[in-house]
Amino acid sequence: MIYLDANASTPLDERVVEAMMPYLTQHYANPSALYTEARLAAQAVTKAREQVAALLDCEADEIVFMSGGTESCNAALASALTLDARRTHLVISKSEHAAVLEFAKRWFFTGRPVSELDVDRGGRLHLGELRGATRPGQTALVSVMWANNETGVLGPIEEAVEIAHERGALFHTDAVQAVGKVRLSVKKTPVDYLSLSGHKFHAPKGIGALYVSRRVRFKPWMLGGGQESGRRSGTENVAGIVAMGKAAELMRHELDIGDDRRVAAMRDAFEERIFAALPDTVVNGNREYRLVTTSSLHFPGVEAAGLLILLDENGVACSAGSACHAGALHPTHVLSAMGLEDEHARCTTRFSWSRFITMEQTIQAADAVIAAVKKMRSLKTAGSVVMAS
Ligand code: PLP
Repeated sequence: MIYLDANASTPLDERVVEAMMPYLTQHYANPSALYTEARLAAQAVTKAREQVAALLDCEADEIVFMSGGTESCNAALASALTLDARRTHLVISKSEHAAVLEFAKRWFFTGRPVSELDVDRGGRLHLGELRGATRPGQTALVSVMWANNETGVLGPIEEAVEIAHERGALFHTDAVQAVGKVRLSVKKTPVDYLSLSGHKFHAPKGIGALYVSRRVRFKPWMLGGGQESGRRSGTENVAGIVAMGKAAELMRHELDIGDDRRVAAMRDAFEERIFAALPDTVVNGNREYRLVTTSSLHFPGVEAAGLLILLDENGVACSAGSACHAGALHPTHVLSAMGLEDEHARCTTRFSWSRFITMEQTIQAADAVIAAVKKMRSLKTAGSVVMAS
């Protein structure tokens, strides 16, 4: 299989598996206990905290380990929105991941003020709208994702942070898709909270973290034994934490040596090959501000559901730009927020790269896509019906 669905999840790096295995098999003690074995586990957690902090350019005590991106986003919002009873207003963009959107929905339906900001046709936030939406003295938090999972479109985070802080609001960013893929420094971009998830950068599923700046307070929503300095109760997932620490170290190195340029070259070669054969193909999202790992493509008249099946039969795994609900395809909220028509969204397919894909596989996948799109178009012309599941 050629796996072009890395925005959904990435394969484990073998070096990550090697680092975590001893904490599943030998050093399984609870890190809160007092004997030597437990101290080994606690030391491994400390090391991983330093590794993750180095990737974000922050202090180790600003990292709180959690179960993944969803918990991290929920914890950031739950904290920031309950720190000050006079400030309950939440501002988000319409293209946020469900981990933020669903929390905002619940916040709204329990009578609290929420503003959802539009994005432009390229998927980027309108800064003017952000300025207009934030209410001095009332807005508790602005939450804007660093990189979008469907289109790969980036920020503008720096400007958004500045606006939020001018208005006295805190700033959270869902950086689940950005961490390990772009060079980011919370010293240079002073967000207050940042969410990340291990399985998007070659660590296992079920481990993530929240960066909480030393400048801000944090009110935990997971209560219990007081682990993570009282910020996230629950016995630590030591093996997962060790894995994510190792993955963070590896990704930092990859970024240092410019491996992202190799990934960008593959993505660009893929698109160029497809444009040459299928010139009516359209890239969704701002092409200048986009993750190097992501290509969201619109093939006019070619429903993604059918294309995915054909590609799967030919050994290529990727994702649709629409979700199947009650037997019908609906455009995702991200493509709708960008103002793309239903047909455009239904005919959108997302391809996403991890470091483990090669140029040879990329070219093979592009050829498979070209053949599949041509086949679907020829079936359509011949009057056959391609069923979408
Ligand atoms: N935020 C974004 C942008 C994501 O892409 C995802 C996962 O797809 C999440 C949050 C949720 O992360 P997790 O799967 O670790 O809960």
